[in-house]
Amino acid sequence: MTILNLFKIGIGPSSSHTVGPMIIAKNFTTLIKEQNYFPNITRIKIELFGSLGTTGIGHQSDIAVLLGLLGEHPKTIDTNKIEEFILNIKNSLTIKLLNEKTINFSIKDDLILHQRKSLPFHPNGIKLSIYESKEELFSKIYYSIGGGEVLSEEEINNTFNKKDITLPYSFSNAKELLKQCKENKLTIAQVILENEKAYRDEKQTKESLLEIWKVMQTCVNNGLNSDGTLPGGLNVPKRAYKIYQKLKDKRTIDPLAFVDWINLYALAVNEENASGKRVVTAPTNGAAGIIPAVLHYIVNFLVNKEDKEKVIIDFLLTAGAIGLLYQRNASISGADVGCQGEVGVACSMAAGAMAEFLGGTIEQIENAAEIAMEHNLGLTCDPIGGLVQIPCIERNAMASMKAVNAARMALNGNGMHYVSLDLVIKTMYATGKDMQNKYKETSKGGLAVHYVEC
Ligand code: SF4
Repeated sequence: MTILNLFKIGIGPSSSHTVGPMIIAKNFTTLIKEQNYFPNITRIKIELFGSLGTTGIGHQSDIAVLLGLLGEHPKTIDTNKIEEFILNIKNSLTIKLLNEKTINFSIKDDLILHQRKSLPFHPNGIKLSIYESKEELFSKIYYSIGGGEVLSEEEINNTFNKKDITLPYSFSNAKELLKQCKENKLTIAQVILENEKAYRDEKQTKESLLEIWKVMQTCVNNGLNSDGTLPGGLNVPKRAYKIYQKLKDKRTIDPLAFVDWINLYALAVNEENASGKRVVTAPTNGAAGIIPAVLHYIVNFLVNKEDKEKVIIDFLLTAGAIGLLYQRNASISGADVGCQGEVGVACSMAAGAMAEFLGGTIEQIENAAEIAMEHNLGLTCDPIGGLVQIPCIERNAMASMKAVNAARMALNGNGMHYVSLDLVIKTMYATGKDMQNKYKETSKGGLAVHYVEC
């Protein structure tokens, strides 16, 4: 229930398929070292199941796992060295676990992407096994459950026995969150800031949020200044650089010119993500452009310099509050509930936070978040070639504008509305569970199969 689990600094192109698998591989390798298996290991085998197996290559899950075995972490890895690390493994036919223990390794035989097998708990399952000659020494199953969050099989079983952290203003749904705000005369941002004190002091929370914002800024800036073609074989040209060249010195009286900028910020982030560069999950990598796009719009166009820090912190706290509701009561994984759980959730988070910035009441904020999700219900995940490019990049731009629109619609009402945020979250989850697997990050349906390369 901490918002810092929703905003993680990592690398592209996918939080569930790149960030999660890298963390899993690093956790497993650290564990086997701690358990003193290193002297005896002669082989390590990694199996990717479900959505990780079917779209793992396009989402670079295979590369992520190898990097994790080397001891790399998504937050700290030097993204310019990834190619060199992978080439070393390929050419030497060895891998140096945690940069310490070298064993033979064949990507073809030891890294298996199952196309038709899944593990029971979640579509993104990974099994890692170690051997001494042919005898299995140890194995463990993990799941990458969305937004870079990972769980081992034991953690799933122990979840309900875990000692709960007591939050000063606990809530399990939007209705309870609003009740806490009203009873204690606090804004949503203030409730979250108080609750985050259960994990760290206020200063640290604020510093972490500003660090997250800094990474978002760097990501936008890198995207705006990076021309060329996206990797992966589809040869999709990057657009942010060219649009930026057009917009940056343009004087215009077009009142809708800000739309171009919001689109541009989202394209910049998602092109960086598709290029495997550093991004912040917000709440996932596939949907990483929406919150930074709306926040860049606010910071660059709508606030004074002296107010910026508070605006940024309150925006991320409010967006985080809404994200927590989805994480707790539904899912933020495209493999679990389709793109409504990624782009839909990010849109809802950004809409609520934008409404907060515009001075909305807590009811209007809840309404904005609800409107944004209501019009993303049923959104499928069907990335062409298993790459987080088409429709993902453009979809972030569309959803960023949808978030702004939802906030403005909510601000023009009085907060009263028929469908509550809790109901729309419940509906999103039920819709996702009803959705056929081919529309849930498998690249077996929708655009992914109807697109034919000429
Ligand atoms: S379609 Fe949506 S959920 Fe699927 S990979 Fe793209 S952004 Fe993620």
